[in-house]
Amino acid sequence: MQPLLFEAITVDEVYLPLLKEKNVRLSVLRLDKMHPIISGNKWFKLKYHLIKASDEKKDTIITFGGAYSNHIIATAAAGKLFGYKTIGIIRGERPKALSHTLLQAMAYEMELIFVNREEYRNKEIPAAIGENDKAYSINEGGYGPEGARGAAEILDYCKKENYSHIACALGTSTMMAGLVKASLPYHEVIGISVIKSKITPGNHLNALLSSGDHLKKYRINETYIFGGYARQTPELIHFMNGFYKDSSIRTDFVYTGKLFFAITDMIKNNEFPGGSHVLGIHSGGLQGNLSLPPVTLIF
Ligand SMILES: *Cc1c(COP(=O)(O)O)cnc(C)c1O
Repeated sequence: MQPLLFEAITVDEVYLPLLKEKNVRLSVLRLDKMHPIISGNKWFKLKYHLIKASDEKKDTIITFGGAYSNHIIATAAAGKLFGYKTIGIIRGERPKALSHTLLQAMAYEMELIFVNREEYRNKEIPAAIGENDKAYSINEGGYGPEGARGAAEILDYCKKENYSHIACALGTSTMMAGLVKASLPYHEVIGISVIKSKITPGNHLNALLSSGDHLKKYRINETYIFGGYARQTPELIHFMNGFYKDSSIRTDFVYTGKLFFAITDMIKNNEFPGGSHVLGIHSGGLQGNLSLPPVTLIF
């Protein structure tokens, strides 16, 4: 297993005619480059959980996710790398053919337990696992204060004072909470939601923020969901291929494709004042593209 390569993280500026025309700069924090599997934000969200598990002398990590979950595969790989048994509680009945994500998680020796959607919703540890006081449980997607604390360290990998805006994709909102915590008073942090939800994502976010964090500038944009979580449209795929041609940056269709579509669309719509310098967080997740038909993307 490849170790985590923090020194591989770079900040890459993107040059597009649109940016020149609008006098806006766009730089990308390449968390996707640190590890092929524990990519992007998932390591940062796991870090303090793993430290806690070690302090509490646990030997097993239990967590939750869907069949294509970047969090599941990252937890399986991190368990392998740091010597924990891992158990993934997977949403839905066991399918005949397992997804590439789950096959890879199994290759990292994660034990998979499938629970139906109703049981999954309650996020209870199934009785099949039995009592295990050596087990440490992590929420779906790494949601929670430990996850946010780790995500706050993402901005240590760039010169954050150079930017006016910080934009990220938003699922559970844990990463965004960390970015808000680490942001400076003149920053605006923008979360591009990729999930249609009855509960507004703002509630999840606010629960992770302190009263001091609430004074910072941040907002969630829910106009770039593209039909729902892990849904895609020809327009999105076309954008991702074009963005790759222009910048050599590969994006995934679940999170970062929607993020960079949103950033460029917001620039087109003059939502960033001239002179802005936007930092887009490339939070990884490229393994998710394996679930697309092979001819869809040019990279
Ligand atoms: C999980 C994930 C996100 C969402 O992070 P949250 O902390 O759940 O909001 C964004 N981008 C990628 C690539 C992810 O895998």
